[in-house]
Amino acid sequence: MAAKEPPDPPADCPFSGRVTKNSITVVWPGTTYDGGSIVTGYIVEMQKKGDKTWKVLTKDVFSTSYQATGLKENEEYLFRVSCVNSSGASKPSAVSEPIKATDEGGDEANEEDEPDEQAFEARDVKVRNTNVKEFYQIKEELGRGKFGTVNKCVEKKTKKILAAKFIKVNSKADRDEVENEISIMQILQHPKLLQLYDAFATGDSLVLILEFVSGGELFERVVAEDFQLTEKEAVFFLRQITEGVEFMHEKHILHLDMKPENILCVRPKSNKIKIIDFGLARKYNPKESLKVMFGTPEFVAPEVINYDQISEATDMWSVGVICYVLLSGLSPFMGDNDAETICNVTTAEWDFEDESFDEISDAAKDFIEKLLVLDPRERNLAKDCREHDWLKKDVASSHKISKARIRRFLARRKWQKAFNAVRALTRMGKLSL
Ligand code: ATP
Repeated sequence: MAAKEPPDPPADCPFSGRVTKNSITVVWPGTTYDGGSIVTGYIVEMQKKGDKTWKVLTKDVFSTSYQATGLKENEEYLFRVSCVNSSGASKPSAVSEPIKATDEGGDEANEEDEPDEQAFEARDVKVRNTNVKEFYQIKEELGRGKFGTVNKCVEKKTKKILAAKFIKVNSKADRDEVENEISIMQILQHPKLLQLYDAFATGDSLVLILEFVSGGELFERVVAEDFQLTEKEAVFFLRQITEGVEFMHEKHILHLDMKPENILCVRPKSNKIKIIDFGLARKYNPKESLKVMFGTPEFVAPEVINYDQISEATDMWSVGVICYVLLSGLSPFMGDNDAETICNVTTAEWDFEDESFDEISDAAKDFIEKLLVLDPRERNLAKDCREHDWLKKDVASSHKISKARIRRFLARRKWQKAFNAVRALTRMGKLSL
């Protein structure tokens, strides 16, 4: 067997992709020789023309393209890229031509045309009965959910940055649930869906090693100061959400927990999203009965509450609620408490009467109307949504959507999440109040 060594550099220098006044996307070819083990990522370096030093922009990009942001308008920049495998990094590639940051090359709205970045190649993951810390360094906490915490982590061998989701398993049933999540994630290999990298059983925890998504929750992004939210941006997000959901449904999997917290942006300042959290997902066979009794009241479909047959349409209801909130900051079924919310969902009574909908296009309203339908058989599915005029034609309004109400929505959801966590802990007797 050939000895392993670092790979050769990319076969050619990086080239200019999309350019704006403050960003440059570079693309480069792969290596001609991988050194005997697969290339796990690339290091991208940049130099301002006239400077002598190289600045490392990233040590952790898997795809063969990268967007350098925060650049100065009309300055010229040079780029070079190295390939990395488990034995180390290659020499840098040849240096690119100087590329000027200028608006002439394109505009910000073109992000949709960029190829999706894949964090790593599809992997066949088997749960390893060993301590995750042997292979990964566990770093700071990224988030917390009902089932456990998620930390940033670094694979010791490759230095790849990933996320570790720690889930406490107290019983065989808990363990089966997590194994269900793992087996479902193995099927869901798609750029809009969070990818699984590794899995461990350590003591009373199962640990999923996941693709690291650094851009935070979608709704946090849309309320940021530097973000302008109009229907056009909402369309961009909904196209991606429905693309991810369509793929899941083609694979006969229902997500069953579609809500804003489970849609993350891939990078800070990026509008590309990933759907996360397959903890409640289920394999679905239309010929067999499938009923569940879980979900988040504000986003859950009436058939779940009524304990009726669920289907792909169940996720589409939640997509309709997410869209309604994104366009208005209002939650269509929210009551003063869970019981009232649940009651509002079962009657499926909602409207566009609030003034926040005054400037919303008819196409957007029609999109939502075809999702928030009581009878699941009458609801649009993901493939219908993707053909809907609002997503397909350039009919979205450019009217600015108020962020104030979305901020209030977010604050309330955070408060609710914290409250629910305390409630859960109290139930388990772990909190001494
Ligand atoms: P829930 O209570 O929503 O069911 P959960 O226990 O199943 O949550 P997740 O939703 O998977 O956990 O993760 C909790 C939080 O951790 C997410 O809302 C997100 O902020 C963060 N997070 C999860 N996965 C990642 C990731 N791969 N990269 C970055 N942050 C992540």
